Amino acid sequence: MHAGEISRVARGALAAAFSVAILGAQPPAYDLLIRNARIVDGTGSPWYRGDIAVRGDAIARIAPRIDAAASRTIDAGGHVAAPGFIDIHTHARRGIFEVPTADNYVRQGVTTLIEGPDGSSPLPIKPFFERLAAVHITPNFALFVGQGTVRDAVIGSVNRKATADEIDKMRGLVRQGMLDGAFGLSSGLFYVPGTFTPTAEVIELAKVAGSMGGIYISHMRDEASGVLNSVRETIEIGEKGGLPTQVTHHKIIGKSNWGKSVDTLRLIDEARARGVDATIDQYPYTASSTSIQAALMPAWALEGGRPEVLKKLQTASMRSELQKETARLIMEERGGGDPQNVQLARCDWDHSLDGKRLGDVTKGRGLAPTVENAADTALWIVEKGGCSGIFHAINEDDLQRILKHPATMIGSDGEVPIFGTANPHPRSYGTFVRVLGRYVRDLKVITLEDAVRKMSAFPAQRVGLADRGVLREGMRADIAIFNPDTIRDLATFERPHQYAEGVDYVVVNGQLAFEGGKMTAARPGRILYGPAVVVSR
Ligand SMILES: [Zn+2]
Repeated sequence: MHAGEISRVARGALAAAFSVAILGAQPPAYDLLIRNARIVDGTGSPWYRGDIAVRGDAIARIAPRIDAAASRTIDAGGHVAAPGFIDIHTHARRGIFEVPTADNYVRQGVTTLIEGPDGSSPLPIKPFFERLAAVHITPNFALFVGQGTVRDAVIGSVNRKATADEIDKMRGLVRQGMLDGAFGLSSGLFYVPGTFTPTAEVIELAKVAGSMGGIYISHMRDEASGVLNSVRETIEIGEKGGLPTQVTHHKIIGKSNWGKSVDTLRLIDEARARGVDATIDQYPYTASSTSIQAALMPAWALEGGRPEVLKKLQTASMRSELQKETARLIMEERGGGDPQNVQLARCDWDHSLDGKRLGDVTKGRGLAPTVENAADTALWIVEKGGCSGIFHAINEDDLQRILKHPATMIGSDGEVPIFGTANPHPRSYGTFVRVLGRYVRDLKVITLEDAVRKMSAFPAQRVGLADRGVLREGMRADIAIFNPDTIRDLATFERPHQYAEGVDYVVVNGQLAFEGGKMTAARPGRILYGPAVVVSR
């Protein structure tokens, strides 16, 4: 026994004697005591049995047994206590103002949502944070600043290089975003206007974020036939920008590209071997989700925004060219080789289409469900006002290969749905518990400890959240308690509005946010500020 342990034992005995002597005279030692947990601490180390005591918003003590009075004591019953999950890729500003409790996430054990991915963020950030603080949310909330949003603000959605002066303005906006509390720069080089951005221009902005302690996280230019070059580009931006770089929601789209994750992961490994800090995040589904037009129309057709798109669709020669290109995208890329692999998620101009498959919608228009006719239907949808879609074009082998990689963390790419509205991708309801249920328990693709690491300590370390992501004394008390034998996702592509099962308790900043199958009245979420923040708090 070391000297430190002796003194700890002595202190413990003293404290116990002291608490007996004064019981009833003083407030309890702890606000919350979690007894009898299998602690998976987030580091990847094997679980151990222990009690966790919380005082205020922090973990005050972790020990094999804590016998002290607490305002509230929970018996975890041998279930798992893990750090609250940190979701590094969310679109939670879709819905967080309507559902500030973010039930879909908290019920999975998620305690921190990071927004602003895919190059798209609020801008300026400060007023957004003020609005958010005013609604009192349940989980913690953080942001990246979006390269697409910055470019759009300076030069609009046009396909041209930025001038030196414009690049300077963009640098200023990224700098301001970092000062306002962003954790780094995101890009969506697949989308308009990110797709019009030369690599060198992204590097210039990445340098600004990197010099202020931020990371770069990218929805890559191409996740289908060009995926290898896109990974190379993401690595190059990290290398030349001088900052950590991350391939977000890594996937391989399109049957003819399946298997390429062997090579993308090799590129990541090679980059890391020569000292480039490159990582990955992923959601555990074989379908992606974005707008029908972004997925099934070429980027050149989307320049200039909706009025320009409609003008192109009304020109006969242009339309037939577009229809051919859309048919190709259905066959070879997001469409998964069959119109039935495209599912409509939300059509604001006709909600009866929500959840329907593109082949069936084509039949509904009185057309045979051929690829050509489905392409026509896709363009018709864009003309009508567009829909968001779900695209079943990812292979399970690639998914599992990416999941197993040590540099892969979990991120949902989800949002905060209005319960029962539209037919969103189930990832919003199920990502974290699906990893724990399907991929840990049922398929044994990764261990419980590794899965928890990918959802907590790893993303916390990635963005520099030094006081979260690990269960350890002194850390913020964000804790998820769940039954590893029953945890699972219920949300499906057909019936997405179903909450996770198997989570017993969720603690955010020391307060119980979920227990007994219900959200509590607490709204303990905080805005988390990045490394360069200058605010009066
Ligand atoms: Zn994305």
